[in-house]
Amino acid sequence: MNTELLQNFAAGRWQTGTTEGTTLFDPVLGTALVRVSNAGLDLKEAFSFARRQGGSAMRALSYKQRAAMLEEIVKVLSENKAAYYDIATANSGTTTRDSAVDIDGGIFTLATYAKMGHKLGDNHMMLDGERIRMGKDPLFQTQHFLTPTPGVALFINAFNFPSWGLWEKAAPALLSGVPVIIKPATATAWLTQRMVQDVVNANILPVGALSVICGSSSGLMDQLEAFDVVSFTGSADTGRIIRSHPAVAEKSVRCNIEADSLNSALLDPNTQVDSEVFQLLVAEVVREMTVKSGQKCTAIRRVFVPAPLYQATAQAISAKLKKISVGNPRNETVRMGSLVSQEQHQHVLSGIATLKQEADVLFDGNPADLVDADKHLAACVAPVLLGTQTPETAQVLHDIEVFGPVATLMAYQDIHQAYALIQRGLGSLVMSVYSDDPSFIAQTSAVLGSHHGRIHAISPDVASLHTGHGNVMPMSLHGGPARAGGGEELGGLRALNFYHRRTALQASTSALDALAQTATPLVY
Ligand code: NAP
Repeated sequence: MNTELLQNFAAGRWQTGTTEGTTLFDPVLGTALVRVSNAGLDLKEAFSFARRQGGSAMRALSYKQRAAMLEEIVKVLSENKAAYYDIATANSGTTTRDSAVDIDGGIFTLATYAKMGHKLGDNHMMLDGERIRMGKDPLFQTQHFLTPTPGVALFINAFNFPSWGLWEKAAPALLSGVPVIIKPATATAWLTQRMVQDVVNANILPVGALSVICGSSSGLMDQLEAFDVVSFTGSADTGRIIRSHPAVAEKSVRCNIEADSLNSALLDPNTQVDSEVFQLLVAEVVREMTVKSGQKCTAIRRVFVPAPLYQATAQAISAKLKKISVGNPRNETVRMGSLVSQEQHQHVLSGIATLKQEADVLFDGNPADLVDADKHLAACVAPVLLGTQTPETAQVLHDIEVFGPVATLMAYQDIHQAYALIQRGLGSLVMSVYSDDPSFIAQTSAVLGSHHGRIHAISPDVASLHTGHGNVMPMSLHGGPARAGGGEELGGLRALNFYHRRTALQASTSALDALAQTATPLVY
């Protein structure tokens, strides 16, 4: 076998797996790229080294010093960006624009946390809230404070964001002083491994603060101990395995799960077909279906429009989808590249077949030829818009997430029915609402807030300002209740809570004064 076997960085040194490993492929050309293996690695040593060496060194630094390290990481990643784009094209099959969402999105997130971290100053802990009196006498009070957990953070990530998925988790962890071990999804592990390699080689972080283990997930969870944390992104099925692992169930290892989600878009019932609000919905649905070939956990999967606008919406979205060229991302005329692997290709095709049992096909770009790519070889799927005018009788349309360029248009009769149908997603990462009526947006937020981590409202006054339904911004919460995993990430400094322990100090005013001298008030 002549492809390179990527090295793991564990226990402070580069280590090669002892088996031939798993091969990563170019999903467009079908060529073998690199291999990954962690066979033979001493996982116990890797975790205890990170905990002991990496953790102590990181906690000895202040927030400001760690923020400066994040800044240095941003510089190194920015300098090496060209190589990352090449890897993304080869291994993820993404166009330059789609690779940017992952690569520049990750760097932007790091830079944002570096900026926030500087403001936390030279301290090593944070105050949470005000002092609270516990009796009549104000001398004895309680003050909550936060200190970094003295464990390691294990990240088990999904295939669709090998860069952003790493840095959106690592930025708050490293800023908190918690060492990181990243296990990327095997199909696209190359980009994650290269980024870690560049950062390790630049000697920015203390040894043990950042490790990468590629390949099998076997045995990783078994290494977790009390005070460690695990953050998982991936399918609901694997999420269940993580949540029920003895480390979580018996040792109270803190666990964050970001799983799948049937995100919605909702059009105001009073919308006119020739209005700007209507056009905004159409443009956003097309964008969400096609960016990264729909392989975004936040992508719009269900589109709810008033019944009288169903046909017009179907036509308007289809007209735009028709213009999306699909194929080899190296060809500049291509708007949408491929899915990440042949396995995903099969999953998406069978998912579409399942959804079709309950929906009509309103648009299917697949009969057209691919640009610069072999239909029988490339893992490309063109956009597919499905639709139903009776969404209340559907089951799978509210249940199955097809992780590709696929969405289902649904007609609703009145707004109460629309709300009830959106709730059948059983908890989603994000929904978007399209309206020029602020009170409708407020009402929708009140009714559907409990079912979503984020509500993105698009009105004509923010048409050119809004950040996009599916774009996850570091200052805003990412994660969703129930089916979406129940996790919370980002949200500015809120993300630091996961990596800190909260303690209440009940003491005299003078002792609380002394504590306050060494801690930064946490202001979100
Ligand atoms: P997956 O099959 O669950 O894999 C996710 C990660 O878990 C991979 O690193 C995988 O490693 C690892 N893994 C698999 N089995 C494991 C086990 N028994 N113990 C520990 N780790 C294990 O999910 P996927 O197919 O890569 O990702 C697609 C899904 O992720 C979609 O449903 C999507 O909605 C969701 N997603 C959610 C978010 C979010 O933020 N909420 C973001 C992106 C994606 P291997 O690759 O080596 O198998």
